[in-house]
Amino acid sequence: MIDLRSDTVTQPTEKMREVMFNAVVGDDVYDDDPTIKALERLACEILGKEAALFVPSGTFGNQLCIMTHTRPGDEIIVSYDAHILYHEVGAAAKLSGVQIRGLNCFGGRYNLEELKSAIREEDIHYPTTGLICVENAHGNGSVIPLEHMKKIYQIANENNVPVHLDGARLFNAATALEVTPKELADQCDSLTFCLSKGLCAPVGSIVAGNQSFIARAKKNRKLMGGGLRQAGFLAAAGIEALTHMTKRLEEDHELAKYLADELEGFKGIEVIRERLDINMVFFKMDKSLIEEQSFIEAMLKHDIKINGTEDGEWRFVTSHDVSKADIDKVITIMKGILKA
Ligand SMILES: *Cc1c(COP(=O)(O)O)cnc(C)c1O
Repeated sequence: MIDLRSDTVTQPTEKMREVMFNAVVGDDVYDDDPTIKALERLACEILGKEAALFVPSGTFGNQLCIMTHTRPGDEIIVSYDAHILYHEVGAAAKLSGVQIRGLNCFGGRYNLEELKSAIREEDIHYPTTGLICVENAHGNGSVIPLEHMKKIYQIANENNVPVHLDGARLFNAATALEVTPKELADQCDSLTFCLSKGLCAPVGSIVAGNQSFIARAKKNRKLMGGGLRQAGFLAAAGIEALTHMTKRLEEDHELAKYLADELEGFKGIEVIRERLDINMVFFKMDKSLIEEQSFIEAMLKHDIKINGTEDGEWRFVTSHDVSKADIDKVITIMKGILKA
């Protein structure tokens, strides 16, 4: 199978399976799991943050941070197309009781004047602005320049509002921007990143912040049902991911660009170039070429898995488990399908 649906479909590497098998574990709710502790320490070193927590997923990490930064009735500022607003099932309203203010902007790059005026002043009618969220790499495939993140953080600091970075693909962002993950982590009070996407670990994300934030988040993690026991087996894969998988992401990005070039050879396909920063290729395909469901089924017949469109766009994702030969095969198969 060639799977272009997401980088979440990546399989743990042989080395990961080996370190998982041999992991030394304990009950992490009792602080007894040395492998989880080692992963959290490693994440702190990479990010330059005081403390970190292993959590089950990226959604869990984002929602845990929202819960820990805010009080019910607060308002949080998010870009209108952010994962937190669009793809987390309304969790911020349900779990933390906050209201979301979605700002319209390209790729999560807030218009800075709009951001300033969106932060609430004290008024008997207004909710309190409890948090500003930033997403980098953004789910639309683009990255936010470091300079822009600095400006957002400065505005937040001037107004005493914390910033949370949804860095599900933080290492992809750092790779594309040619900055260190720490430089991005410096521009927020809390962040989360996924071990389970392009880094190939089977499960898990990291939340990081300062000591007092993480102490409070740890209690909320328990509240949310995320107090894990012998999860060192998963953390072992996470350590392997952080040690060996973060520096190869450029290959995925290069492959995405190659795929984009090839797709542009088709009449009726338009690659969205301005959002081609990481391992995700977004494109539009003329409906006259083929009907959506038929395309998905025809590709599947050739052992190629793809997702349907979202808002009229197709998205193909490259990863460790997709090779250049796989992309060549995809293009050859598409030539057959779209001609027939
Ligand atoms: C994948 C993703 C998440 C959520 O991660 P899960 O582990 O799937 O819950 C959050 N934010 C962004 C931008 C993502 O791409």
